[in-house]
Amino acid sequence: MPRTVAVVGAGAAGLVAARELLREGLGVAVFEKSGRAGGTWAYDPRADDADPLSRDPAGPGAVHGSLYASLRTNLPRELMGFSGFPMAGRVFAGDARAFPGHREVLAFLDAFAEEHGVLERVRLRAEVLRVRPLGREQGERWVVAWRGEDGEVAEEVFDAVVVCNGHWTVPQVAKIRGIDNWRGKQMHSHNYRVSEPFRDQNVVVVGMGVSGTDIALEISHVAKEVHVASRYSEDRLGKIEPYKNVWIHREVRNSELFSSQTPSPSSSAVAADIILYCTGYQYHFPFLDLDGLTVDDNRVGPLYNHVFPPKYAPNLSFVGLPIKTIVFQSLELESKWVAAVLSGRATLPGEEGMMAAVREHYRQMEEAGRPKRHTHEEHLNWLADQVGEPRLEAWRLEMLEKAARCALLLDEGYRDLWEQDDNSGASASLGVKGAP
Ligand SMILES: Cc1cc2nc3c(=O)[nH]c(=O)nc-3n(C[C@H](O)[C@H](O)[C@H](O)COP(=O)(O)OP(=O)(O)OC[C@H]3O[C@@H](n4cnc5c(N)ncnc54)[C@H](O)[C@@H]3O)c2cc1C
Repeated sequence: MPRTVAVVGAGAAGLVAARELLREGLGVAVFEKSGRAGGTWAYDPRADDADPLSRDPAGPGAVHGSLYASLRTNLPRELMGFSGFPMAGRVFAGDARAFPGHREVLAFLDAFAEEHGVLERVRLRAEVLRVRPLGREQGERWVVAWRGEDGEVAEEVFDAVVVCNGHWTVPQVAKIRGIDNWRGKQMHSHNYRVSEPFRDQNVVVVGMGVSGTDIALEISHVAKEVHVASRYSEDRLGKIEPYKNVWIHREVRNSELFSSQTPSPSSSAVAADIILYCTGYQYHFPFLDLDGLTVDDNRVGPLYNHVFPPKYAPNLSFVGLPIKTIVFQSLELESKWVAAVLSGRATLPGEEGMMAAVREHYRQMEEAGRPKRHTHEEHLNWLADQVGEPRLEAWRLEMLEKAARCALLLDEGYRDLWEQDDNSGASASLGVKGAP
């Protein structure tokens, strides 16, 4: 049984992983490169102004965080707690709203880490530079090279490593033909903090996910025009009511669509000053260079159920890869699984059995025509089965679906309407059926 475990990162994933590992009686050291725990939820007002597309994740101005100043959660607090430590019905930083601002989530994580004895396991300003297997190829033990506050690099050996470094930092930028010759400004939402720099500008927002929608509407209060371009926009092209300056367009493929002058009414071109990409992020593990483990079109693999690389299991694992899920619950269940496997309470199939499962997953995705970048999605009930937890109550998944639909309604008020919904049954106001 492994005795010591290094956890890379003290965001929500690293903190709950540490709690579960400690509960299994394992020795835990959490390495955190920044000056505090909380990860993404520790809002960082800095942005990489010198590299607004953040093409170089190791550049001098690189920042981890991608939150903007006004950010409120896109999941209600009922879906953002941990077992035995809920967010629902409690207030941590004075913000009791159903969809609280980022400070409330950070205060929640601080309180969680404190209560569970995790904080004292976190080494701050300790950046993991390299993780490599020691001795036998399978990674029976692991060497962690890390740089401390004084700049010194140290090496330490652990029995296991859990990777929790987050995946909302390195931008995915849409490819637009001819864009390199376009002279306007381009940036990624990773570097968006406040709307003021967009005042009186014509802005093209590429991507209409949760951040794209939120940011486009926030910018519309100061910008001249906001044009949102999305590949999933067919059913709502044109001007968006009640906004006076927001339009939705099809996916942008060609930079000729951006003219530097006001286009003629018959033209589909947009006079743009800034293109703001809200096109998501890439998985990135700069400290790992392992034979047979790759990131290909945002598929990290091979991984047995998004967590264990068959060749290096169980002593190397990843917590936090799935998206489109109840994130905190997924982090917790994955952590419980890792902790149970490392303590010997749960077992994994052999390497070949895990590889067969991975191949079968890939085959099913291919058959369904799903691209590799959609590999890491919700697997909550599967996880619950692994660790002997009850399957998810139906209302949780319904609430997740409702929140996802509401986030894309292009209605700035949906978070506050949600609270009225809960109290007065005014589901119609959100235009969402089946609200819990
Ligand atoms: C704009 C935005 C909005 C979101 N809204 C929601 C929401 O409403 N609800 C929700 O549940 N989730 C939301 N999320 C997802 C959010 O990322 C998760 O809630 C959660 O923060 C994931 O935690 P994590 O620990 O996996 O990653 P992170 O929070 O990113 O933490 C990773 C940590 O690892 C550290 N680290 C990285 N590399 C190293 C290294 N080499 N050495 C040492 N330390 C390292 C980082 O400094 C960081 O502290 C949102 C994300 C974004 C970007």
